[in-house]
Amino acid sequence: MPDALKVDLAIVGTGPGGYVAAIRAAQLGLTVAAVEDDRPGGVCLNWGCIPTKALLRNAEVLSLVNHASDFGIHVSGVEADYAEAVRRSRRVADRMAKGVEFLFRKNRITLVPGRGTLTSRGTVEVAGQDGLQTIEARAVLLATGSEPKSLPGIAIDERRVISSNGAVRQERAPRSLVVIGAGAVGVEFADVYAAYGTRVTLLEVLPRVVPIEDEEVSALLARVFSSRGIEIKTGARVAGVRPGGAGVIVETDGGKLEAEQVLMAVGRAAKVRGLGLEALGVALDRGFVKVSPLMETSVTGLYAIGDMAGPPLLAHKAMAEGVVAAEAIAGRTPRPVDYTSVPSCTYCRPQIASLGLTEAKAREGKREVSVGKFPFTASGKAVALGETEGFVKVVADTATGEILGVHIVGPEATEIIHEFAVGRTLEGTLEEIVHTIHAHPTLSEAALEATLAALGQAIHI
Ligand code: NAD
Repeated sequence: MPDALKVDLAIVGTGPGGYVAAIRAAQLGLTVAAVEDDRPGGVCLNWGCIPTKALLRNAEVLSLVNHASDFGIHVSGVEADYAEAVRRSRRVADRMAKGVEFLFRKNRITLVPGRGTLTSRGTVEVAGQDGLQTIEARAVLLATGSEPKSLPGIAIDERRVISSNGAVRQERAPRSLVVIGAGAVGVEFADVYAAYGTRVTLLEVLPRVVPIEDEEVSALLARVFSSRGIEIKTGARVAGVRPGGAGVIVETDGGKLEAEQVLMAVGRAAKVRGLGLEALGVALDRGFVKVSPLMETSVTGLYAIGDMAGPPLLAHKAMAEGVVAAEAIAGRTPRPVDYTSVPSCTYCRPQIASLGLTEAKAREGKREVSVGKFPFTASGKAVALGETEGFVKVVADTATGEILGVHIVGPEATEIIHEFAVGRTLEGTLEEIVHTIHAHPTLSEAALEATLAALGQAIHI
């Protein structure tokens, strides 16, 4: 075995949490070794967020081409090559992974390929292709992420029953697909496959699609998806999946469904096994590693961030936690992550973005609540773009003007949300948003108008 590698910080996992922490720690003068058994960038960059955004862009382009006549452009002989869409998404992911490798070199971070296990508090043993390598570190940061879950008795074989991992790799769109789970993964893939002509049925056990979002957002998405031919079955309980018919038969409490494939999209589980956590007595909470506001686990000098450290399971939350952990390890006093202002973004068409409380949750409290809503049908920019589905909805405390929640469904929702995130960070109220001049014509004006509406002062509705 080669000599132990001695560093200030060893990081296990180089997804958005791990690689951002590595770079921040290196900026602060620490020597860093980062262990990775796939490519740097983790699930987000290689198999999740980034390749799916490329596929969704393909779906959007195809939809635009199919509706070109709305713009007086007549296109004939359209041929959509799904295999090329997947290959393009692989090229996009590859380019971004190379970018992380470049940043590691630039910041003198040692990449150690292989699977890391903690053998003591400051020791990580890495099993790689060339054998074992030991890393001895002053602090260790775990950032191993999460993996797709399945339902009891249903195995994900990545052939008939696929997860998002299989879906981003397979170069063929199935003729028919049952998607189990209408969360972010479910609705994003339902959108992609439906655009490429797959007959999609979307099953959700709860009473509505994207059930963590505001009810009005769920209702609008369900209406748009249904109008595109996606069949939605909510309140649907899956009893089993077995081979048969065109590929699989899905048994539900409402009857049998037949499809070529099933996409399992019922959530993700933290990757906490095989890391040596039990032997060290690292405390878990509902399957996630328990952490302090500065991301330290129950074991001194051992930190954890990202999906493995609890919800929300979002790349940007992992990145923010990575910065906090790196700064804490470097002896700084970072500001802990404010979990009340983390934007949640789903990139189906129309896009969904939200932060804070839904209207229903805000009304459960004691305070009086004001709600302002502005539809994109009244936005000049949205009408000019031909993208008028959706709205911006602002939920605020009537007495103080505090922004309690924002819910956007529609064009570029995932970009528009940030003015509210900044507003909350600055402890701004409805007034500060209203006194901010929004350029005309922009989609962001819908944010201004919804805020005005919450004050009973909307101009354009
Ligand atoms: P999710 O938790 O967002 O959604 C899973 C859905 O499956 C829920 O609506 C749940 O009610 C439903 N479900 C659970 N059991 C079911 C059953 N037996 N039958 C039918 N429906 C069932 O999980 P996901 O969509 O798999 O995504 C995993 C994680 O990754 C989430 O935390 C998500 O936020 C994150 N993610 C985010 C993005 C994004 O930000 N754009 C994209 C993909 C994934």
